[in-house]
Amino acid sequence: MTTAAPQDRHSALVESGVSTRVRVAVIGGGIIGLASAWQLARAGCQVTVLDPGVAGGATHAAAGMITPSSEATFGQEALLAASTASAGRWPAFAADLAADSGLPIDLRREGTLFVAADHDDEQVLARQARLLERYHRAVERLPSRAARRLEPALSPRLAGCLVIEDESAVDPRRVAHALRIAITSRGGEFRPLLARPELRDRRIVGAEPAVEPTRRSVEPVGHARPHSSHADVTVLAAGWATSGLAAHLGLRVPIRPLKGQVLRLRPAAPDVLHRIVRASVHGRFVYLVPRSDGEVVVGATSEDVGADPSVTAGAVHDLLHDAIEIVPELSEAALVESTAGLRPATPDNLPVVGPSGVDGLVVAAGHGRDGILLAPLTADAVVAHVLGLPQPEHADHFDPRRFGTQEDE
Ligand SMILES: Cc1cc2nc3c(=O)[nH]c(=O)nc-3n(C[C@H](O)[C@H](O)[C@H](O)COP(=O)(O)OP(=O)(O)OC[C@H]3O[C@@H](n4cnc5c(N)ncnc54)[C@H](O)[C@@H]3O)c2cc1C
Repeated sequence: MTTAAPQDRHSALVESGVSTRVRVAVIGGGIIGLASAWQLARAGCQVTVLDPGVAGGATHAAAGMITPSSEATFGQEALLAASTASAGRWPAFAADLAADSGLPIDLRREGTLFVAADHDDEQVLARQARLLERYHRAVERLPSRAARRLEPALSPRLAGCLVIEDESAVDPRRVAHALRIAITSRGGEFRPLLARPELRDRRIVGAEPAVEPTRRSVEPVGHARPHSSHADVTVLAAGWATSGLAAHLGLRVPIRPLKGQVLRLRPAAPDVLHRIVRASVHGRFVYLVPRSDGEVVVGATSEDVGADPSVTAGAVHDLLHDAIEIVPELSEAALVESTAGLRPATPDNLPVVGPSGVDGLVVAAGHGRDGILLAPLTADAVVAHVLGLPQPEHADHFDPRRFGTQEDE
């Protein structure tokens, strides 16, 4: 079912005063919790975000690519449709956020080059081109000489290139910072608290401290005891930790941490790259995402190793090796950061957004490798669920109840 444009919906709700009575507690202040909280606040809700480390999860590690075509894989049509819809929402989302926060949101819209290091890698490109052509996506095959005219820093030894226009990137840390300001400017509040949904009489009535309130990690000395945040609706947006918090209520939300290691480089010369560059390098993937401040983000591993936040020598080695093979002058760049983040991954690669099956609780998590890309569509869907409005198009595949209950296991 489609709806009116979200902006129209918000203004109509604010003007009618319908949503001013709704109190919402949002557990988790990553990109998903923050984007949802902001849109709820814009719709007139009274919002409280609970998180002991706002934007410190996967959002902190993310490269910020908004690249639905590059991410497309066979058999994932629902994700491609949702990603494309959300990518289309990003320009208005960024403009509104800039207006609300007073901070510029740098949505870089230069597109993607997908390059191959050798002839076997070229087969990977050919497969992606066939997939995109099948879905009628704009994609152009270029010889590597032509690719170097677009990005002169690319190695002269590449075997082939695809150009995918209409893709973009943001800096997720800056977006999260702007969202915090925008939420506060709309009357929203933040509480630095590890929280869980509070169940009373088979209904979620808000968020309560998730550990003993006397623990120092929750209650700094001299502060009042943490108390519950009462709410009409609670949004559970705790990234990979959502699964455990939902299990505590008897709900089955299968989200696992999928580790990604990522580097930040500062090249000696500015503007080494303009576009996002993705590469297949002797069978391994690497991407390079240029920031407007001159940094280049190099990522990322994808490791099913549980909630392990360590950065490993092998991953740093492989990422640097592959990045330098594609853009040789990066060997002179300063390595300014190495980070690991835990993506909230689901078994079917689709996020989990919607009513949980317990009254008063909406889930918004499980965005895997696409949480930045899917944030605008997710936030629209959360507003619709909280306020009982029709769902935005393409969000209907996100229903948390598709996984059944714990009793089904
Ligand atoms: C290396 C890497 C690169 C990536 N690159 C991209 C990219 O280019 N494009 C893209 O679209 N996506 C990318 N992603 C994926 C993206 O980062 C995630 O999908 C997204 O951050 C998920 O957002 P989230 O808010 O659900 O989770 P998170 O960002 O992990 O935030 C969850 C928040 O919940 C809080 N929390 C947890 N438990 C509790 C609790 N009990 N009480 C209160 N708060 C709690 C945490 O402190 C955290 O702040 C990348 C991820 C990684 C790791």
